[in-house]
Amino acid sequence: MLEINGIKCFDCETIIFSRTRHDFHWCPCGKIAIDGGFDYLKYSYKDMPPIPIKFSLEITKKELYNDWNYNRDLFGLIKKEDQTMKIIEVSLEKQER
Ligand SMILES: [Zn+2]
Repeated sequence: MLEINGIKCFDCETIIFSRTRHDFHWCPCGKIAIDGGFDYLKYSYKDMPPIPIKFSLEITKKELYNDWNYNRDLFGLIKKEDQTMKIIEVSLEKQER
């Protein structure tokens, strides 16, 4: 199990997380974006700040890296209807706009 820090969009309710250091991407509605992989967490947003969340996935960092590196894009984004895992809302110390 891999512990992941992600953010949730207030608008489309999608969870996004950065798969590796240079994986920067937006949620489907384009209101929030995440970057930094497992090294640091950096996010951007329009209108409303996202909800920082923590959850676990049955995956390895290498699988996430390859998903990003080969443009498979199976991970990094979890739509509202697919959010079946346990999610914990957290507060983040670092916040960048
Ligand atoms: Zn969104």
